[in-house]
Amino acid sequence: MGVFHALGDRGHEEVVFGSDTVAGLKAIIAIHSTALGPALGGTRFYPYESEEDALRDVLNLSGAMSLKAAAAGLDLGGGKAVIIGDPRKVKSERLWRAYGRVIDSLQGRYITAEDVGTDTGDMELIRRETRWVVGVPVEEGGSGDPSPATARGLMAATRAVWRFMHGTEDLAGLKVAVLGVGKVGSDLVRRFAEAGASVVIADVHPPAIERVTERYKVDVVSCDDVYDVECDIFSPCSLGGALNEETIPRLRCQAVVGSANNQLTTPEDAERIAARDILYAPDFVVNAGGLINVSEELTGYTVDKAAAHIDKIYDNTLRVLEASRERGVTPNVAAVDLAEERIKEIGNLRLFRRSGDDRN
Ligand code: NAD
Repeated sequence: MGVFHALGDRGHEEVVFGSDTVAGLKAIIAIHSTALGPALGGTRFYPYESEEDALRDVLNLSGAMSLKAAAAGLDLGGGKAVIIGDPRKVKSERLWRAYGRVIDSLQGRYITAEDVGTDTGDMELIRRETRWVVGVPVEEGGSGDPSPATARGLMAATRAVWRFMHGTEDLAGLKVAVLGVGKVGSDLVRRFAEAGASVVIADVHPPAIERVTERYKVDVVSCDDVYDVECDIFSPCSLGGALNEETIPRLRCQAVVGSANNQLTTPEDAERIAARDILYAPDFVVNAGGLINVSEELTGYTVDKAAAHIDKIYDNTLRVLEASRERGVTPNVAAVDLAEERIKEIGNLRLFRRSGDDRN
């Protein structure tokens, strides 16, 4: 891969490679944009098949974080990091502290948090070397696991979607199909059950299914059959790419609202869903609850303040859906445009202030 070509392609600002041969650290930090503020995004620990795969992933993920932060109205930019390796084998205190020093060298331009393969305990070790980390354990004064916050945001988004489509926020009696009942999906099931909805679940991992069926009355279908379930809301909460040329024609839902990042396999999939008269609520708008929650640590975390901030996803989702209707474009296009407008408008303001500062 031509690294500078890949960076320039999407306007990334900076990519940093961190290594510690003793600990086996191979980290790539990508800062996509600091136009709105420091680039905040999690660290993904994953056994990538090649360094090129890892670089491609971190460039994609960091670009999406800029959109997510802007769409949520946060004064944060977009960044993400990946560590190459099997998290079950490679993690050690030395690795996290070496990684923490790489983050510290960026002097706050990048702030990390947990992601796939990392957890609050890892953040605690990073914190011993740098203050530029959020999502640390509650006992350490942090906000803890962001997943329940993400599920809370999805509920706010679903209420907005239902209001937009049917003029009511009452979710009682709805039928919801949740694909992937891990940390976010299982909490989402709880919230939908409490709201009086009936829930169908699917997951590749049988223990994940059992944890949910032990506690809630839900129906279980296979990961293939879940696309054919007749329901009101389809909620992809596993990995990306659930919506594609093969699955979209099978959907029998009214709307898609889920936590997975990059649910659309290609941008054309947004058009495919719209052509089926199904409302797709853009992933980066509706799954921002976790990001909002950890970002609250930067100004002093309290549960109530964070919850009120997360619930603004309701307004953000409605704004996107209304813009999409007014302009006659898909919600995805409307959401990307609104986020990019904010980056341009407020980013320019910051540039102006910086140049003003230089003059003084
Ligand atoms: P998780 O790993 O706890 O849960 C994912 C679940 O999906 C697991 O139970 C796994 O068995 C299942 N799964 C994996 N591949 C599957 C497949 N092909 N088919 C069906 N099930 C499959 O992860 P999570 O933290 O719950 O996150 C879920 C998704 O939401 C991810 O895409 C993540 O990037 C995204 N997300 C999470 C957060 C958060 O706060 N945790 C925030 C924003 C976005």
